[in-house]
Amino acid sequence: MTEQKRLQTPLTTTLHDRGFYGSESLIYPVLSRRVKGISVGINTSISKACNFGCIYCEVDRTKKGNFIKFNVPEADAQLRKVLTDIQAGKGGFGDEKIRAITLSGDGEPSSLTNFDELIQRIIITRNEFNLNDSKIVVISNSTGLNRETVKKGLKLMDDNNGELWAKLDAGTEDYFKLIASTRFPFDKILSNILTTSQERPIKIQSCFMNVHGEMPKEEEIMAYCDRVNNILANGGQISAIQLYTVSRPPAESYVTALTGDQINQIAQMLQENINVPIETY
Ligand code: SF4
Repeated sequence: MTEQKRLQTPLTTTLHDRGFYGSESLIYPVLSRRVKGISVGINTSISKACNFGCIYCEVDRTKKGNFIKFNVPEADAQLRKVLTDIQAGKGGFGDEKIRAITLSGDGEPSSLTNFDELIQRIIITRNEFNLNDSKIVVISNSTGLNRETVKKGLKLMDDNNGELWAKLDAGTEDYFKLIASTRFPFDKILSNILTTSQERPIKIQSCFMNVHGEMPKEEEIMAYCDRVNNILANGGQISAIQLYTVSRPPAESYVTALTGDQINQIAQMLQENINVPIETY
């Protein structure tokens, strides 16, 4: 173990980390290196429906359900309970502070039909609990960033310490299709990221891995750099790239984690070719 001094909770927030309240909870607080404290996660797809089928996804899709309207009042009630518990010292988090309320979970937050309603409710609750300094983070595969409800929600976040972490795991259409296993066009992901980052700074979250024992080829990483540089050249604002690898049992057994050396190799290539801070996890 490195700095990952494990408590009852995982130390890093990837898309689907789970903590003290169990895998079926709408709300799951975890200790997160990325937010440097407690991240209170909101699972925006308890039915486990997602418009991607990432080969590294750790969600058990055997119970996959349909897309359903997200129940904001129920989520808010659970969020209040969890915040109350943590502020009362429950959950095994010691002196750690709540640094973020994070939308992610077993599906895609930008698919919600009432995304802005959820953001509005989170802001009210966060402020009532005197957590105004805590971030509101949305971890997204970027498919729905052009939807009206999402655009409204992001604007609310802009004025309320919000951060978008947009997933980008490929540089070419073919590799994107291999990793995300979706019919969603890669170009649309890139244009959604560009348009959204022209409005506010975002972070890019990129998971790289070995597929059938092979890490992404150099051409793939260079294509990824070109994509990011194209976003920057067109006025996109990227405050950091979060680079990580698989840490939980993935959907496909031929997917394995990169070694530390492999991650360092990719991080170095990114650092040499993109003028954005690269953070590795
Ligand atoms: S976007 Fe990919 S990693 Fe995230 S829930 Fe969907 S399938 Fe899993």
